[in-house]
Amino acid sequence: MMQIDIVTAFPKLVASPLEESMLKRAQQKNLVHIRVHDLRDYTNDKHRQVDDYPYGGGAGMVLKPEPIFRCVEAIIEKYPSKRRKIIYLTPQGKLFNQKLANELSQWEHLIFICGHYKGVDERVIEHLVTDEISIGDYVLTGGELPALVVIDAVVRLIPGVLSDLESALTDSFQSGLLDYPYYTRPEEFRGWRVPEVLLSGNHQKIAEWRKAKALERTRQRRRDLLESYLSNNKQIKSDGGR
Ligand code: SAM
Repeated sequence: MMQIDIVTAFPKLVASPLEESMLKRAQQKNLVHIRVHDLRDYTNDKHRQVDDYPYGGGAGMVLKPEPIFRCVEAIIEKYPSKRRKIIYLTPQGKLFNQKLANELSQWEHLIFICGHYKGVDERVIEHLVTDEISIGDYVLTGGELPALVVIDAVVRLIPGVLSDLESALTDSFQSGLLDYPYYTRPEEFRGWRVPEVLLSGNHQKIAEWRKAKALERTRQRRRDLLESYLSNNKQIKSDGGR
């Protein structure tokens, strides 16, 4: 079972998304254990101080190294595993994508360190962290939302988490293309009809339509993805599908 630990100075920021929907079910099914750790519990001064002024001056506070090291070391002692990553969420990290989500879903233990204010003391990054991940080229207030983004994308890839694994396999990016469009009842809404082919019951025609739509969307919206999809497929064909 995958173990996930979130290290944060703001535990309430991550609590409720873990108690709803897919992340809740995955924990109930014992496919993942997710624990949230309050950095303030790893301080040993009476003010439970987790941040301090930056050396060299300037605006903003920095998360202190001692509580982070203490917390992560306590987690590691409790859950020893060789297949572990210690991830710092930072806009300076590797850009998160579906490929990285797939890779992370293969690990036994993921520890997420959430920065806040100006970030964490650099010694945390140099001597504790194994991977730095960014969820995009913009700056958020803390690493809590990015940690949840990564955890959500990773956990839904663990076999058994989604009731129908196929629904993860056809999602955008997983196949190399953007996903095709979906419709549900009613057949006609305000005069707009569901495409006839989807009502036809002809599974081959439906599959062809979906593939064509996925290709069309990817061509229109993400030419970069289409090009790598086509060149990967050419490679597979010329390797004889090996
Ligand atoms: N001074 C930092 C910099 O410019 O790289 C940004 C600090 S940001 C205000 C506070 C924290 O939010 C960061 O330490 C990081 O944990 C998190 N964060 C902000 N944007 C992020 C992003 N795009 N991806 C991942 N984490 C992010």
